[in-house]
Amino acid sequence: MLARARRWPALQRVGNRVVEELTEEGHTDLAREFEEWLAETLPENIEEMGPPGSARRAELPLKCPSCGGPIRADEVEWADRTTAVCPYCGSGMRN
Ligand SMILES: [Zn+2]
Repeated sequence: MLARARRWPALQRVGNRVVEELTEEGHTDLAREFEEWLAETLPENIEEMGPPGSARRAELPLKCPSCGGPIRADEVEWADRTTAVCPYCGSGMRN
């Protein structure tokens, strides 16, 4: 899962290069076709793809450091990739 997600930016980089080269060589139809395939294949918002749930769980404390509420990693809200928001007091948590 992680390995697959990490390959997207590489595919995007290689794909853009292929499109450029095809265009330079005058194969604009091929370039456009490849570009469309790439757009369909690549997930949207690559930058926002976070780590899988298992990796996230490992980063969280069992209890909120502010209010002591029990934290369930699959139920909390995430402010960003490494910061969870306590559902009880609303403070950010990060290990
Ligand atoms: Zn709290």
